[in-house]
Amino acid sequence: MDDLRHLFRRAADHAADYRLSLPDRPVGVPVDQAALTRAFAGPLPDAPTPPEQVLAELVAAAEPGLVASAGPRYFGFVIGGALPAATAADMLAAGWDQNAFNAVASPASVAAETVAGTWLKELLGIPATASVGFVTGGQAANTAGLAAARHQVLTDAGWDVERRGLTGAPAVRVFAGAERHATVDRSLRLLGLGTDALRAVPVGPQGAIDPDALAAALRDAGPGPTIVCLQAGNVNTGACDDLRRACGLAHRYGGWAHVDGAFGLWAAASPATRHLVDGLAAADSWACDGHKWLNLPYDTAFAFCARPDAHAAAMSLAAAYLVGSGGVPAGADLTAESSRRARGLAVWAGLRELGRDGVAALVERCCALARRFADGLTAAGFEVVNDVVLNQVLVGFGDDARTDRVVAAVQADGTCWAGGTTWRGRRLMRISVSNATTTEADVDRSVAAIARLAR
Ligand SMILES: *Cc1c(COP(=O)(O)O)cnc(C)c1O
Repeated sequence: MDDLRHLFRRAADHAADYRLSLPDRPVGVPVDQAALTRAFAGPLPDAPTPPEQVLAELVAAAEPGLVASAGPRYFGFVIGGALPAATAADMLAAGWDQNAFNAVASPASVAAETVAGTWLKELLGIPATASVGFVTGGQAANTAGLAAARHQVLTDAGWDVERRGLTGAPAVRVFAGAERHATVDRSLRLLGLGTDALRAVPVGPQGAIDPDALAAALRDAGPGPTIVCLQAGNVNTGACDDLRRACGLAHRYGGWAHVDGAFGLWAAASPATRHLVDGLAAADSWACDGHKWLNLPYDTAFAFCARPDAHAAAMSLAAAYLVGSGGVPAGADLTAESSRRARGLAVWAGLRELGRDGVAALVERCCALARRFADGLTAAGFEVVNDVVLNQVLVGFGDDARTDRVVAAVQADGTCWAGGTTWRGRRLMRISVSNATTTEADVDRSVAAIARLAR
């Protein structure tokens, strides 16, 4: 048993050493992927290897290929770090090896999910009666929410999609902004609705859906099963759709309003940004990530549904006849997985660690740092092209080729990391401030490095 204790301690020490090195370590410098793979390579061993040796080999092989995305100067995609207590809880979830399938498989996991789900709804301003599925990411959350939507709009049209499938079903129309996230399209493919079901609605200057265009599109489409897929947090600009108006429109036409709020829904957790997602409580389903802006470990996200019956009808593992019979849906009835890791433990721990004020402060700090980034880069003579309303900053450095060269130089330099994006036909640097450990000094140091490399 001492060997096991020693092994686990070594793993924890490696993780802690790595985390402590993050403020000083180069961020995401390019690696030779083939060389990295060779470090893991070799024939499949015939004989067992002692665990201590396996761990040592793993650390040696992996270390050069780790991206410091958990650190304070990683601004790529919308990534976020991982809070200390949440990370430790996740380590325990692995150590305890719990299956969050249901309360028989792991009562503790279900209890943590139950309480964390209640806290999440309170923080986000989602009705307390909503169901919560603890899923792997925004992609899975969108799929669950749109599955519930598919169930309800087809039930309303007299079609039992869970039993009959989509062959011969009334056509479902899905209205979504032209700048929706790519995961929405994949969810529609997975759900058999297909991307031809999409009616792309024009967006305003910052990429939020144009409510007048949505109203016109709904009116022109006429009656029929209708899903309106909205967005809180455009991955480029951070813009949020006018949820109050768009949900009202969806309902006026008998439709279902789903909100993809993978990171932007967290605007609801601070009084300073709450107005950006005003009206969100009127939606029927919401997708939100934990592993992005809330700084929980991977893979953690939430599928909320205002209609637990529709949620369970779409996702339930139990027979359909059990749904609505008064039984409370279990975890596995609200997600696409059957066996699942106990991600609710890390969610509970992260929320306990931050508290309501800590979550609000995290959101406010990231938004303030994004503005600091924008101000610094503007002062240095570069062009910030979006309204910095949330944690996203888009920067141009001249023509596309020059911007791409600056992005590549920044990535190779290692002071900070930011990615490139194409928005409105233009190549831009995209900066996302989503890490709980980022400081003003980190932003200033990054602005200085970007300015130096751009000149
Ligand atoms: C990141 C993101 C997603 C996908 O989330 P994953 O956690 O990567 O699956 C969906 N929608 C939006 C708006 C996002 O920012």
